[in-house]
Amino acid sequence: MPELMRAVVISRYGASLEPRHCPVPRPGFGEVLIHVHASGLCSTDLHLLSGRQPLGDLPRIVGHELAGEIVALGEGVAHWRPGDRVTAAIDVTCGHCRHCRTGETQRCLAMRRIGFEIDGGHADYVTVPAANLVAVPEEISYPAAAILPDAIACMYHSLIHQGKVGLGQHVLILGVGGLGIHGVQIARSAGADVLATSRRPERLALAERHGAVGVDTSRQSLEAEAATFTQGEGVDLVVDNIGTRESVRQGLSVLRPGGKLLVVGYLDETLEIPSMRFFKSELEIIGCRGSTKQDLIDVVRLVGTGQLTPVIGAYYPLDQIQAAAARLESGDLVGRIVLTRS
Ligand SMILES: [Zn+2]
Ligand SMILES: [Zn+2]
Repeated sequence: MPELMRAVVISRYGASLEPRHCPVPRPGFGEVLIHVHASGLCSTDLHLLSGRQPLGDLPRIVGHELAGEIVALGEGVAHWRPGDRVTAAIDVTCGHCRHCRTGETQRCLAMRRIGFEIDGGHADYVTVPAANLVAVPEEISYPAAAILPDAIACMYHSLIHQGKVGLGQHVLILGVGGLGIHGVQIARSAGADVLATSRRPERLALAERHGAVGVDTSRQSLEAEAATFTQGEGVDLVVDNIGTRESVRQGLSVLRPGGKLLVVGYLDETLEIPSMRFFKSELEIIGCRGSTKQDLIDVVRLVGTGQLTPVIGAYYPLDQIQAAAARLESGDLVGRIVLTRS
């Protein structure tokens, strides 16, 4: 085991994302040491760097989506072996608060998160609690496995757990970026008909290849397209991956009476709801945060059996994380960015 590793450390807000050399961590009680083979770059990493989402104590190694191979076990770890291929659920939860007891671990009151309050996976090595590990079968590559905990499990959690998506429903995905393209696939596999919006033709083309009907909101009226798509009934479920006043206004405007708006994005500080329509049509607005370990296990199974395809837009070596971040900010990608370790 080397003494030093490369890791992307946030030491102060507003600096740049750059790998530097840090000691390889040692696994504590109940933890394993993972040799990271790939990690997913999330726009949240950029929010963390800017300080928009405070991290608490700095410095901190970021990266909340990772996949790799176990190389060492801490004391008290059973059922895992060096060489096991794994990914990890992001939330390290207390196990005994009201929400953990009822399986809603994404709401744990004492939660700490990998890549937020504890060191994460944009590094060569990371320690994680064995309780968070999920085995990755050979059929799933490390880069594909690296985007399961957030980009894909979060959409699964939103649509399946929070939205109760199902057969014959009309679903609208607002924004088919790194998350939304997987939302399209999950809603389709649940038996829903899917409408997906973007202003970028290449994103719409990919959404259409995965079975959605695309709406180019730079030139088409969403209201008109949604009315045609649902034969005037209105949409059952909207997934808002954007989280602006405008996206929420649009999402609510196309819902059928009793329809649900799932709020996944959070760009604007506050959102607005039209009170009369909200009341009269008995609309539901549901926040969606992260995912549970069970969501991640379900997603691994769906990907391993070919029912869901992780969409990776670009690969960058860890050393080029600045270029990767610039590419992510440019918005010209279709799919997720994966940082490799070669
Ligand atoms: Zn994320
Ligand atoms: Zn808890």
